[in-house]
This record gives sequence, structure tokens and C-alpha cells, in this order.
Amino acid sequence: MKFETIKKVILAAIMLPFVFMVIEGVILLRSSVKEYRDLEKDRQFADVLARGGSIAATEILTEISATRRYIAQPSEPAAAEMQRSRAMLDQERRAFYASLPSRDVLDEGLVDELSALNLAYSRIVAARSAVDQGRYARSDPGYIYWYAAQKQLAVVDALSPLISDPVLLQKSNQLMGILLTYYGERLITIVGTRYLDQGSSARFPVELFVQGKVMLNEGMDHMVFHSSDSTVRDIVAYLGRSSQVKANAITDSILAGSRPTNAVRDIWAAAQNERMAFLQQKLVDAANDIHDTGEGLSTRAHIHLTLILSLCAGLLILATLVMLLAARGLRLIDRLTRDRETLVGELRNAAQTDLLTGLYNRRGFEVAASALLTQAEHGSRWISVVLFDLDHFKKINDINGHDAGDAVLRHVARVARENFRSFDLLVRHGGEEFLALLPDSTPDDAAKVAERVRLAIEAAEIPLASGELLKVTASFGCVGRANEAFNRNFEDLVKRADLALYAAKASGRNCVVSGPTVPAPEERRKAASGGFDSRI
Ligand code: GH3
Ligand code: MG
Ligand code: MG
Repeated sequence: MKFETIKKVILAAIMLPFVFMVIEGVILLRSSVKEYRDLEKDRQFADVLARGGSIAATEILTEISATRRYIAQPSEPAAAEMQRSRAMLDQERRAFYASLPSRDVLDEGLVDELSALNLAYSRIVAARSAVDQGRYARSDPGYIYWYAAQKQLAVVDALSPLISDPVLLQKSNQLMGILLTYYGERLITIVGTRYLDQGSSARFPVELFVQGKVMLNEGMDHMVFHSSDSTVRDIVAYLGRSSQVKANAITDSILAGSRPTNAVRDIWAAAQNERMAFLQQKLVDAANDIHDTGEGLSTRAHIHLTLILSLCAGLLILATLVMLLAARGLRLIDRLTRDRETLVGELRNAAQTDLLTGLYNRRGFEVAASALLTQAEHGSRWISVVLFDLDHFKKINDINGHDAGDAVLRHVARVARENFRSFDLLVRHGGEEFLALLPDSTPDDAAKVAERVRLAIEAAEIPLASGELLKVTASFGCVGRANEAFNRNFEDLVKRADLALYAAKASGRNCVVSGPTVPAPEERRKAASGGFDSRI
């Protein structure tokens, strides 16, 4: 397998799990942030709900009672108590509005309920100044407070569906149930007491009484349907007490048109008031419970989000570490690949180069020549070979030593390299014998180049280690082959060059001899046999 492929495989093996981990991390983070936001929203709604419920259950009713007492008997302490109850309601209302979420997260229905509530409060403000000016001396402003309480209940009811946490939702429904029950009881008690106090001529306000009953039943259904909580069990158990069952029976008989005696009336009123006090306490408890549950949710959401964020940070650090290690590993692989390529290149060169002269050795020549020979077959008209051999080299070795012989070989190789053309291929063919392949060259071209090289070798003064300057000569054999030549065997061309070189040696050395050209097929028939063309 190639190093590049191994690199890609390693990279994929490291990166893929991390890509998945990062994607998973992002998904987890997104869902956690969403969950956190939902719970935070729930906490906020729970807060509003608890405050709203508590205002409806306590502050509004306290102000009604204090106001009624003041109207009935305007005294300094009654006025002070009324002012206190007003201040309390205003303070709770401010807190309620401050705890409301921004308008854009509220739905349209809730916004409408809030506007109605605002209106109801502005009516309370107007009623207060009317009370202060004595304009309520003979009448009761209770219905104004009652209306505000109704609106407050409507807001609490509209808030419940916005809660997503099931526990909190159940608790908010339970609160709503207790509120409705409480208000139903309150309406029945007030209407009933007033009717019984007015004497036998008074008309029984059946609509209000029925309305109270409806609210009460609705509240009980709400509670029992939505919750099996201990608060609800307490309320159900309380209402099952004999005094309460008795009070219910009296309520039903009043509704049926009978008029209880004063003693029965007192028993009934006492039981009703006790029941309201009980329910009011349950309301406060339920509102507090909702508030605490909301806070608990918020804390849980904070812890959860912190954990997730730490997990993601850990994941990120781990991913960074692995990336760094992977980068280091890849750099190492890169370096190893480069080293390997350099090594392979060096080995290839070493295998194809003659170590003494730096020219091609036979193997290197075969590789380089094969491309040239293929090219020659398709493109160039001519290809020529020059074979040359140092004259009396054995003597040089014998006289000057083998090292001097090596120095001569190196020097001659350099001179040849400089005097052949750049595109000619030069190979150390044997001990002191060299071969040059001249692409795109006629035998005449080859002979001219060979003569130039011969003269250069002859002219060279070769410095030996002893400081002596040595001169050598070489004999050259040249042959060429036309592209259309019948015989396209390269070995045959070399053999012919060898014959030409032999002829050069035979004719006295230090000369260039051109051998017979390998002819084109039609020329072959008329070709003269044997014989060397010329001696330069
Ligand atoms: P001729 O003119 O007929 O070519 O005579 P010659 O002496 O050059 O030819 P011969 O073939 O008799 O001798 C070639 C010598 O080249 C023999 C061998 O010791 C020497 N030789 C071959 N390779 C090397 C080499 O790598 N280094 C050295 N120093 N000498 C070498
Ligand atoms: Mg020789
Ligand atoms: Mg030789």
C-alpha cells in the first residue's frame, strides 16, 4: 500500500470517530441548552403563577375585608389597617409584574388576560379613592375586588399551559383547583351569610349561590383530576369530616330554599369560615411549593448545563490533543516518505551510475536509451553510436599505477561529457571503453562530434597525484542507422561501431573511423558490402 494511502487511512481512522463525537457533542449541547431554557422559562412561569395565586388568595381578600371594616366603622385603626392592606397588595402586584417574562415569550391569550387584569386593578385604585372620599358609605366595593380576583385567577389559568415540566404543570393545576374551590366556598359563605342575616323577607340570590357551587365543583374536579398529591388528599379528607359534611348538607338545604335556624346558621358559618381558613393555608402552601419546585428545576438545569459544558470542553481538549498527535504522526509519515523517496532515488542513481566516472553504467544506459530508441523509431530519421577506447591504457596503469589510471578515466569522462552534446547519452561501456548514443544524428554528425571529443582528449593535460601531467589519446568508431533501416537491432549497431573502433585501432589509433551505415530496405539491395567508409 502506498504511503499516501496509509496516511489517508490513518487520518480517516482518527478523524471519523472525532467528527462523530463532535457532531454528537453539538447535538447534546443544543438539546441541553434548549432543556435549560425551557426549565428556566418554567421557573419564571412558576414564580409568576405562585405570586398570582397568592395575590388572589390573600392580598386582594385582605384588602376587601379591611375596606369593609373601614366602611362599616371608619376609625383611625381601621383606616391604618386598610392602608396597610393596600400597601401589601400594591407591593405584591409590583413583584408579580416584575416576575413576568418579556412580552415576546407570552402568548396572545395571556397578554389579553394581563390587560384585563390591569384594567381590574385600575378599577381598584379608583374604588380606593372613592372609599377615602366616603362615597361607599352605604354600598360595598367588594364586587370590584371580586372582579380583580377573577382576572387574577384567569391569568394563573392562562399561565399553566405554558409550563412544560410535568411536575410543575401538575402543581400549577392543583393550585388552580384549590383557588377555584376557595373562591367558590367564599362566594357561597358571603352570599349565604348575607342572605341569612337579612331576615326572612330577603330574596335568595340563587345565581350567585349557584355560581359559587359551580366554581367549587370545578375546583374540586380540577384538583382530583390533575393531582394525587398529599395536599389534595388532605383537602378531600378535611372535607370528609362530619362538621364539613354537615355544613355541605346545610348549604344544599339553603340552595333548596329552606331557611335554617340561627343556631344552625352559626354552625354552618363557623364550619364555612374554618374551611376557608384551611383552604387559604393550603393555597399558601401550594404557591410556596410551586415556587420551590421552580427553584429546584432551575438549580437542576444549571447543574445539568454546567456538566454538559464541562463534558464538551473535555471533548474539545481531547479532540485537540488527538489532532495534535495526528498532525505529528502525519508529519512523521511525511518525513519518512520523503526520506524513503530520497533513498530510493539515491539507490536508483547508484544502480544506474558508474561510481568512478559518474557516467551511466550499462544498466542506467539501457533505461535511458530505451526511451530514446523508442522515440528514434517514431520520430527522428537517424540515430548514431560512437564507441571510443583509450589507447594503450594498460601501459598507463603499468607505468603510473592503477590510481593514476582511475584519475585518467575520470578526467577523460569529464572531457567527453563536456564535448558531446547535452542530449547525447554517454555510458562507460567497459574498463576504458565508452559509448555515446547520438539521437537525431547522421553518421557524419556523429563523426564530427567524435572528432571534436578526440581532439579534446588529445589536448587534455591530466594532473596526477604525483603532480605530473599526463596526456592520452583515444580511438573512435562511429556508425549510424537510418530510421527506415531494415535492421533495427541496437546490439547490431553497437557491433558495427565496435568493428569501426577496431578498424581505428588497427589503423594506428587516435583517430575516428566511420563504419558502414545501416541502409534503408531499398538501398539495402544496392548497398556495397563491408569496408569502412572513411578515416578522419
Ligand atoms: P589498446 O590501445 O589496444 O586499447 O590497448 P590497451 O592497453 O588500452 O588495451 P587493453 O585491453 O590491453 O588494456 C585495458 C586495460 O584497462 C586493462 C585493465 O587493467 C585496464 N582497466 C580496465 N578497467 C580499469 C579501471 O577501472 N581502472 C584502471 N586503472 N584500469 C582499468
Ligand atoms: Mg584501450
Ligand atoms: Mg579496451
